[in-house]
Amino acid sequence: GIEAIPRAAPDRILGLTEQFANDLCKNKVNLTVGVYKDSWGQVTTLPSVALAQRQIDADVELNTDLSYLPITGCPEYSASVLRFLFGESSPGYGPRLLREDRVSFAQTLSGTGALAVASKLLALFLAETVWIPQPSWPNHWNVFRSNGFADIRSYPYFRDGRLVVDEWLDMLRAQVRSTGARRHAIVLHACCHNPTGADPTRDEWRKILDTIHELQMIPVIDMAYQGLESGNPPRDAYVLRMCLDESRYECWPNGLFVCQSFAKNMGLYGERVGSLSVVVPPNESGTRERVDSQLKQIVRSAYSSPPGYGSRVATLVLSKPSLRMQWYKDVAFMVGRLNQVRRDMHELLGWPGLTNFEQQHGMFYYTGLSSKQVDLLRSKYSVYMTSDGRLSLSGVNDQNIEYVCKALKAVTRT
Ligand code: PMP
Repeated sequence: GIEAIPRAAPDRILGLTEQFANDLCKNKVNLTVGVYKDSWGQVTTLPSVALAQRQIDADVELNTDLSYLPITGCPEYSASVLRFLFGESSPGYGPRLLREDRVSFAQTLSGTGALAVASKLLALFLAETVWIPQPSWPNHWNVFRSNGFADIRSYPYFRDGRLVVDEWLDMLRAQVRSTGARRHAIVLHACCHNPTGADPTRDEWRKILDTIHELQMIPVIDMAYQGLESGNPPRDAYVLRMCLDESRYECWPNGLFVCQSFAKNMGLYGERVGSLSVVVPPNESGTRERVDSQLKQIVRSAYSSPPGYGSRVATLVLSKPSLRMQWYKDVAFMVGRLNQVRRDMHELLGWPGLTNFEQQHGMFYYTGLSSKQVDLLRSKYSVYMTSDGRLSLSGVNDQNIEYVCKALKAVTRT
């Protein structure tokens, strides 16, 4: 009966936000969630997004249309995101894919929704096993488990302050080969790996993609932070570009999945704006249309259709040149501040040996603290970070940086 339902484990990240809200310490600092805050500690709307919102507000027709979107999203959004991902972000071979009509596309409930729809399609038709980096965003496991994967495995990614690419690839070679004809998907963080902030070099990516390709694995590119590495969104799609590179152009025989989000780079977190693109082999036999039809089926049965407002904002930002330029400036500004905080903390902490601080990208700083030290930081100093030792740089500002660094130094002495 219903009384027998066991309590589910609290979300590792969002559970801490609740605890933070109840903390009475006046110096408390929340460095858990990956939401960008300005130097005053405020979550603000990006100027490009605010401009787009004003234009939407002024447009009576757009503004009053609360009807349903199509199942896989509105056509203007699809067109502008496809142009952004496969035109601007991958100018080499992307446009050819579009001309050949080889991308099946759905507007999704942000990056999480893209991963959910992708995992469902993969589990239904394409793969039995999925590989996730260790460590990774904890929700990867939840999403793949909830959408049909019983066999989820982790590959070594980062240990003791550094990437372990050779170990990762050796393990894949040994384990994937030994499972014979079983199909394998693999989740790749496109940039700003969460939680470590450490990404492979271009040379390492080349080796990684060659191995994945050789083992006939299906790449699932999780691009949740496009722009937050270099400050320039198209530039940060380098893994996508490399996957579409000439030598690999037609040879992801079981598809290439791109799960993309405007949560972080447009600050549209709660509006749930993202996309799933499935790149299929050349389309003589109507593969793209059949994949389209399955995406529709999956979305229809899960939530029927995506929400409208946020996608209108994103469409405007992407499609109006003046707004797109403003957006690039906004992203560069965010990244400039995050990098400044990273450098300032580095100086204040004086922890040269702890991790490869300077090589980390994006919103997070992976401190290398143990979960015991993280607990102490929370209980004694009311500084909140996730138990894996990840802190969100954007929660650090002029008002709290000294306090945060003092607390960090104190707990590392324990
Ligand atoms: N993938 C990774 C690695 C993430 O860190 C996040 C956000 N925390 C997401 C996907 C998805 O986020 P959203 O659903 O808000 O776009």
